[in-house]
Amino acid sequence: MRTLKEVNFKDQRAIVRVDFNVPLDKDLQITDTTRIKAAKPTIHYILSKGGSCVLLSHLGRPNGFEQSLSFQNIIDKVSEILETKVQFCKTCVGPEAQSKADSLMPGEVLLMENLRFNAEETEGDVVFSERLSKLGTIFVNDAFGTAHRAHASTTIIANFFQKNKCFGSLLEKEVLAIDKVIKNGIPPILAILGGAKVSTKITIIESLLDKVDHLIIGGGMVYTFTKALGGKVGNSICELDYCDYALDLIDKAKQKNVKLHFPVDVVAGNTFSNEAKKKIFNVMEIKTGWEALDAGPASIKKFHDVIINCKTILWNGPLGVFEFPNFSAGTMAAGRSIAEATINGSFSLVGGGDSVAAVKKFKMDHDMSYISTGGGAMLESLEGKTLPGIAALNQ
Ligand code: AMP
Repeated sequence: MRTLKEVNFKDQRAIVRVDFNVPLDKDLQITDTTRIKAAKPTIHYILSKGGSCVLLSHLGRPNGFEQSLSFQNIIDKVSEILETKVQFCKTCVGPEAQSKADSLMPGEVLLMENLRFNAEETEGDVVFSERLSKLGTIFVNDAFGTAHRAHASTTIIANFFQKNKCFGSLLEKEVLAIDKVIKNGIPPILAILGGAKVSTKITIIESLLDKVDHLIIGGGMVYTFTKALGGKVGNSICELDYCDYALDLIDKAKQKNVKLHFPVDVVAGNTFSNEAKKKIFNVMEIKTGWEALDAGPASIKKFHDVIINCKTILWNGPLGVFEFPNFSAGTMAAGRSIAEATINGSFSLVGGGDSVAAVKKFKMDHDMSYISTGGGAMLESLEGKTLPGIAALNQ
């Protein structure tokens, strides 16, 4: 892995692929600035070494030009967060883009327009990638969130740089954090997987069985397993088509000596709403008319005992419908237990959209060792896949 420190940026113009794909509200205000803040160390490092930065990013999923997804709308906010005046170019390739990039002075930053206004970006078009590559002399990839995509600016562009390419500091941190779990995790290693459905987590569960000592299964996934084991699930979310798979997984875990942990009790609601009446059931005995929406008190205690004894902890997916405050206790308690384990010296990695959202909602983000900025990219890394954006940098 070639890092920023191994490159001389003096009088060089670095093309930095950042991930400024930020959420916007209806007034086009940024509702979560984490991704822009996360790019700051790399940009500041390059500027401090006498270089300049041409920033490339996508925003949303536009179909051609869409005013609401133009970086023009957020350029002032980007300048404010990066604490430096960021210039804007309303194209990302072509004569104007090239001339603006060429006239950049050391210490200056230029943000190019949303890459995805050009279909060639997601197509990974080689000619488009080459035109992007001409905007600078060094290529730095700091966009972990899109490193699993073989797009023009994330992967193909790297082929136009022989040696002059490197990992940005965010990308480096993300890769090291994932390695700390799946390559050199200190045992006992625990994965906590929650979320709505088993069907979306199959590959990750399978691959984690080769890497962890303990696996806590929580959230809506649980009821496909309990149904398969002959339990009553009431109105809880359950994927009947995946019951055989669930049994197979229980067998595989046994063969691989992975200890599986399920909730023992649940908090159910009589409707899918925060205002629902609540009732606690044994996980195998949920009555018709009741839907399990959270882990119960005995489960919280059981999970705490597992979490607190593990040295490496990966968390993906909430343990209940945490968006409803009345059913958020299980997810919040898991966060608290992970925070306690982290204070005691364990390494904790949280990744995947909803668990990150939960940790932030409960203001526990500073209590975890590392919070990944990439959902899909992190999951693919955990599945053991080599991300194209990373492979291209290492070539
Ligand atoms: P995922 O994207 O698969 O990680 O799922 C995240 C979603 O799972 C969140 O929006 C949670 O509200 C939801 N979820 C967690 N537990 C349950 C449950 N017991 N029943 C229904 N949905 C759940």
